[in-house]
Amino acid sequence: MQTIVIVGGGAGGLELATRLGDSMGKAGSARVILVDRWPAHFWKPLLHTLASGKRDAQGTEIDYAAQACEHGFEFARGEVLGVDRDARCIRLAPWLADDGAEVLPARAIGYDKLVLALGSVTNFFGVPGAAEHVLTLDDVPQAEAFRQRFIDGCIQAGARHAADPEAGHGIDIVIVGGGATGVELAAELSHSARTLARYKVHALDPVRNVRIRILERGSLLLPHLHPRLSKRAARHLRSLGIKVLTDCAVARVEPHAVVDSEGSSYPSTITLWAAGVEAPAMCAGLGLTVNRLRQIAVTPSLQAVGDQNLFALGDCASFTCPIKGKLPPRAQAAHQQAMFLAQVLARPGAAGSAVFAYRDYGSLVSLGPLAAVGVLSGTIGGRKVQVGGALARWLYSMMYRKHLMALHGFARMAARTLADWIGDRISPSVKLH
Ligand SMILES: Cc1cc2nc3c(=O)[nH]c(=O)nc-3n(C[C@H](O)[C@H](O)[C@H](O)COP(=O)(O)OP(=O)(O)OC[C@H]3O[C@@H](n4cnc5c(N)ncnc54)[C@H](O)[C@@H]3O)c2cc1C
Repeated sequence: MQTIVIVGGGAGGLELATRLGDSMGKAGSARVILVDRWPAHFWKPLLHTLASGKRDAQGTEIDYAAQACEHGFEFARGEVLGVDRDARCIRLAPWLADDGAEVLPARAIGYDKLVLALGSVTNFFGVPGAAEHVLTLDDVPQAEAFRQRFIDGCIQAGARHAADPEAGHGIDIVIVGGGATGVELAAELSHSARTLARYKVHALDPVRNVRIRILERGSLLLPHLHPRLSKRAARHLRSLGIKVLTDCAVARVEPHAVVDSEGSSYPSTITLWAAGVEAPAMCAGLGLTVNRLRQIAVTPSLQAVGDQNLFALGDCASFTCPIKGKLPPRAQAAHQQAMFLAQVLARPGAAGSAVFAYRDYGSLVSLGPLAAVGVLSGTIGGRKVQVGGALARWLYSMMYRKHLMALHGFARMAARTLADWIGDRISPSVKLH
């Protein structure tokens, strides 16, 4: 019986483990092992809602061990440090408890086929001070750290403002990068600031004293969308009181300010870096071909170039589609690649001839709880279908439901949707702890 090891239980890896476990693990035709550094899965496109306090992690996460038990695969927790490709095994770091005590020593897991679904990490592009002074949104602890800093910052500034209302005290949040992550976070934060004012958590005017700025290097926000949608998104953000600065290249980050290439300095209580991603450092140490973002070069069947036992998918893979060009780091790409690999790995010998074909189903960006903008797949009269407002927001929320359906099936997804709907109505709109 062959052993298939998948490293990374994110948007692509967990779906692949679930599909392979259902088809091969349960039938006893393969041992499927999922490895992740965390005990539970959180769908990354929702991280901005965690950072703004709109959502808490516990109600959203999926325990890997429970998913493994239900779907015929095994889960091994640990941080993978490297791969011995000759011996066909992955090396895991010792697993330490919160107090530093060793729970499990360093270990190795052997494989016949290895799938790397490691995702991506923030790319600072070498900007001085960025790595030292900014917060990022790569995982749950980082999003929770941001939420805590945001709430604490509002409370502190509120106390100063209450003591001296004329002094202009407030909190300055600078978001570097006007792509989907930056835009979605800015909109959610603006709504959370209003809710926190309503709850009397802070004494600030949520528009005048909670000053949110997006600094974007290009001439438009959301460069992957049509300029009309980019302008519509910018108008919406400005209507919420968010300052949108385009053609603004960040030159350096200081502890309490961000300085652009023209020398203008923007005060910052919290700086969030959302300007781009790259593959984790581990990818560059595997002896495989990688691009300048460290993404692993893969063949049309998603095999790593030069190693037919190793596959890569999602953000850590560099796949160029003959028609669509280089795939963007998107959950929908990771999802489609997981579906493809679930079929390829289930059929011995299929990897040599199978060809992954990416289908672009469009792109939607949330502008807070009530609005979104984006394009859908397909055209009307030769033009792409652009959507906005409440309809786009509803379609945006369906993306997560689709992810849940891939992991749990329709009935469980529907039950969870109902539970979320009830939860939203009976719990506070911003989670304070
Ligand atoms: C705030 C935000 C909003 C986004 N919005 C959208 C959106 O609206 N639409 C969209 O399509 N995409 C969106 N994205 C991008 C999307 O989240 C990613 O493209 C997608 O999650 C990539 O999936 P993946 O499986 O490659 O990796 P991930 O989902 O990132 O999963 C990687 C997994 O690997 C694990 N891992 C990494 N290294 C190791 C290691 N050494 N050892 C063990 N485990 C490891 C991690 O813990 C993680 O669980 C967004 C991203 C962010 C941050």
